[in-house]
Amino acid sequence: MMPGALAWARANARGEMPGEGLRIGSIGGAERLIGGLGRGFGLGQVQYEPKERDRQTPIPRDHYRRVAGYLKPYGRQGIGILACVCISSVFGLAPPQIVRLIIDRAIPQADLSLLGWLVAGMIGLPVVAGLISVLQNYLTIRVGQGLMYDLRNALYRHLQLLSLRFYTSTRSGEIISRIGNDVAAIREVVRGTFIGILTNFFTVIATLVVIFGMNWQLACLAVAILPTFILPTRRVGRIRQRLTAETQEQQAELSAHMFETLHLGGFVLTQIFGREEYESERFRRINERLMGLEIRQVMAGRWFFLVLSLFGAVGPALIYWYGGYQAIQGQLTVGVIIAFVAYLANLYRPITQLASVYVEVQGAMAVFARIFEYLDLEPEVRSRPGAHPLPPVQGRILFDQVGFSYDGEMRVLEGISFAAEPGQLVALVGPSGAGKTTATYLVPRFYDPDAGRVTIDGHNLKEVDLGSLRGQIGMVTQETFLFHASIRENLLYARPEATQEELVEAARGAHIHELIEGLPQGYDTLVGERGFRLSGGEKQRPSIARAILKNPRILILDEATSSLDSGSEAAIQAAMEPLMKGRTSLVIAHRLSTVLSADKILVFDRGKLVEEGTHAELSGRGGLYARLCAQQFRGRTEQGAPMG
Ligand code: ADP
Repeated sequence: MMPGALAWARANARGEMPGEGLRIGSIGGAERLIGGLGRGFGLGQVQYEPKERDRQTPIPRDHYRRVAGYLKPYGRQGIGILACVCISSVFGLAPPQIVRLIIDRAIPQADLSLLGWLVAGMIGLPVVAGLISVLQNYLTIRVGQGLMYDLRNALYRHLQLLSLRFYTSTRSGEIISRIGNDVAAIREVVRGTFIGILTNFFTVIATLVVIFGMNWQLACLAVAILPTFILPTRRVGRIRQRLTAETQEQQAELSAHMFETLHLGGFVLTQIFGREEYESERFRRINERLMGLEIRQVMAGRWFFLVLSLFGAVGPALIYWYGGYQAIQGQLTVGVIIAFVAYLANLYRPITQLASVYVEVQGAMAVFARIFEYLDLEPEVRSRPGAHPLPPVQGRILFDQVGFSYDGEMRVLEGISFAAEPGQLVALVGPSGAGKTTATYLVPRFYDPDAGRVTIDGHNLKEVDLGSLRGQIGMVTQETFLFHASIRENLLYARPEATQEELVEAARGAHIHELIEGLPQGYDTLVGERGFRLSGGEKQRPSIARAILKNPRILILDEATSSLDSGSEAAIQAAMEPLMKGRTSLVIAHRLSTVLSADKILVFDRGKLVEEGTHAELSGRGGLYARLCAQQFRGRTEQGAPMG
């Protein structure tokens, strides 16, 4: 499954599709009418079910300040939105008054002109209100999208700074999801939560002012039944929030399962072991749990809402009862009662929504919290403040009593000390898992040692600027990672300003030029996941070409372990030798020819450096190296003999 599709699937499952609002846990668009105010009244309706957000986590106080900080650049739009909300709230008060005037004035007084004006107002007001809402929507989306843009950029930039450890310990689907889903949810937080709270707040205040102004006794009656809405709403809100959290977990499980089994590697594995049935059954079970949860989520609190709608009917009934009594006494007109009941909708809907404002804000903050969590991850390896740039180096690499552990417990390297002199070829050998790769990772500072130090030309790597260090190191991996782009762009990644001649020269040096020339579009052929694929013997060559282009003083090379045909083997050999010339090279060696020509061989075993010397010195010593040689190279030709 493609990352984009994963993000889509998750967003879909959470009800976060564009334009749909962040409907985490919302009851599928269900609306109920309170107070018997059907559409027939034309005076509004009440949706009193709360919207829940994410699972509840304690929100650190400074998050509110940080969110405010991100919103600050949008102050002007914010003022515009506030103005629109105020005007809309006032406009919302007009329709019941128009109805009141029609019933109490225009009809009894047979005033046709007033009737005409009032009816015109009934049509005109929604038009103006509509125009204002267009403006408000525009401003809201500007703020929402702007915030998303800012956060996405900040997050991506920050993710680039994080260390290798983060990427080896985090599922890639999870990372994509943060930039995709969580940032996308921000837009809805702005639209749904922030603007929603603002609108509801103003509507409630304006309505209270008007109804108390119209008739304070009736207003008191209307307000008296409010707690019967608020309390159950909060209770159900919490239940549904819990179900939402469970649903999201199941959804993540489903996505992870899809990601693994529908990905090329996983798919091939399933096919080869005939586990299609097993995987389908596993999928079905997760899917079933998800379905159950989704149904429960929608049904949760249905009984509450049934009871609630009863209370909803009580409000207007009380108004008709007491208002009717007053009207009979001649203290109140019919128009006032009708208008009053209409205002109840203006009151109960926003009040019930505000009742869950705490849950809403918590949910909204949880979305921010997930983004801040990534933004707050400290890059483990970074240039110290005031770190000096590493001057162009000769290339003397020194490991001094270096110790390292990935998890803080198990030592992967212990007491490693060696020197690689400028221009030397140093071969690292040893059983797999001995720590060779880890040792080479300390040179470009993918990790910092826990003990001891690594220096280049006497500069402690922890003290120098990271960019200036990595700029002088080339790395040739077993397989080249290629972006989905032309082979030209992929090679130029090492040095974007390189000329075509330099590019061709590097490709020739890596013995890949002829191959590229033979492709349908030559250097413009698309490579990468969906493009042309290189064969086993060709995979390492773009990496070599990149290293030639970069022309670094220090080279780290991981020889391909797979046995290659003699043609490929010879080509790689021919490419490697000139590449290593004149540079300090640390080579994780798998070929006899490499160890034979090495100036120094370092033999690693379980994190320790157990032997050091040349092939001639070590092979006669009867130690691990001699044993490795005996095992690995017996009866093999020089080329193609794997080791390590
Ligand atoms: P070699 O290159 O000699 O085969 P490595 O340096 O790759 O050995 O690995 C040394 C040890 O460190 C192994 O036990 C391996 O399991 C462990 N290791 C390697 N990478 C990680 C990682 N990212 N997190 C935790 N342990 C790791």
